[in-house]
Amino acid sequence: MLVVKKFGGSSVADRDKIFNVARRCIEDYKAGHDVVVVLSAMGNTTDDLIELAQGINPHAKQREMDMLLTTGEQVSVSLMAMAMQAMDVPAVSLNAFQVMMYSTSRYGNARFKRVDTERIHHELDSRKIVIVTGFQGVNKYDDITTLGRGGSDTTAVALAAVLHADKCEIYTDVDGVYTADPRVVKNARKLDVITYDEMLELASLGAKVLHNRSVEMAKKYNVELVVRSSLNRSEGTTVKEASNMEKLLVTGVAADANTARISVIGVEDKPGIAFRIFDTLAKNNINVDIILQSVGRDGTKDISFTVASGDLEYALKILEDHKERLTIREITHNEEVAKLSVIGAGMMSNPGVAARMFESLYNSRVNINMISTSEIRITVLVAEKDIDKAMNAVHDGFIMSE
Ligand code: ADP
Ligand code: ASP
Ligand code: MG
Repeated sequence: MLVVKKFGGSSVADRDKIFNVARRCIEDYKAGHDVVVVLSAMGNTTDDLIELAQGINPHAKQREMDMLLTTGEQVSVSLMAMAMQAMDVPAVSLNAFQVMMYSTSRYGNARFKRVDTERIHHELDSRKIVIVTGFQGVNKYDDITTLGRGGSDTTAVALAAVLHADKCEIYTDVDGVYTADPRVVKNARKLDVITYDEMLELASLGAKVLHNRSVEMAKKYNVELVVRSSLNRSEGTTVKEASNMEKLLVTGVAADANTARISVIGVEDKPGIAFRIFDTLAKNNINVDIILQSVGRDGTKDISFTVASGDLEYALKILEDHKERLTIREITHNEEVAKLSVIGAGMMSNPGVAARMFESLYNSRVNINMISTSEIRITVLVAEKDIDKAMNAVHDGFIMSE
């Protein structure tokens, strides 16, 4: 059996934790399995490196950021190999260059294009535990790239897919996937199973327990994932294709404070304006999320939309540069907002979910700024200061009453 085991930063944060992970991997190895381990950087290393860079140059080029950030994963894989070797188990650490994990060229947000398996198979054949750096790739310029924050999960899934692994386990600092972030919602419940689609929505809407692209890739290549704790032996959560699983009305609640609202005021109320605005943003690689358009009055209208906080400054600059062409009178923005979403496949066939969500928010006196819905989710924009209260209220309104 070939197993891929991924451990997040908190699971390898210090010496004891590194040995704890080493022991867990060695158990599988001694049971006769081929073991591929994917690691993140130790503890808060990535955040610390970002801070370090900001102290030198707040507008550092993403290429250099990737060069810097990928050192974190290189530290943890080499230390892990040393730990295993200290326990007399043969192990080898490899980075994205050594495996050859090719990605697109986009620094800071690269995607895997092709992953070679030759080197890994060669090392496994000589009965070594193979430890691979998460989060990094190599682009066509032979530069190192990163996959975006939380990207080590995607490295693990990519390897599980190309190696046709029998198991892909994602070890973290909570017992599995919960109905809401267990650090914010104390009534959150652990889920035994969740479908790819529901997990994808949760991850994309702010539940950082899995990188959203890892879920996308797991679905595409049909890799069953198990999310579990590195600190205990409890069962964890399986992420897989829907079978005849009971469809919960609401599977989970997710929050994302990494969002900002932009409003363009007084644009001409005629066909083609919305197209021009969003086309201009899209051409500059800015993703727009919830969109709200006011009813036209006196030949003009207002359009509000949300972008990721990190894109705010750039989006404002683009809009300002094209203000005249886009017929914009005024641009306003608000960073103190957060998205709150409820997700559940059962929503499709159940009217009234939105009303119940709004009731919970009303009961806790949280004002809703914007609303957007899809078949299996409802998202509202609220003030950032209200987000924890709102998340608890909405979570308890659905999950506790079932
Ligand atoms: P790792 O370093 O292991 O990759 P992360 O910090 O990226 O760990 O992800 C784990 C964290 O995700 C948890 O500590 C938890 O606070 C958070 N989280 C958010 N939403 C959820 C959820 N629905 N279920 C479980 N954890 C969640
Ligand atoms: N170390 C990277 C990060 O902090 C990747 C990861 O943890 O998955 O984002
Ligand atoms: Mg993570």
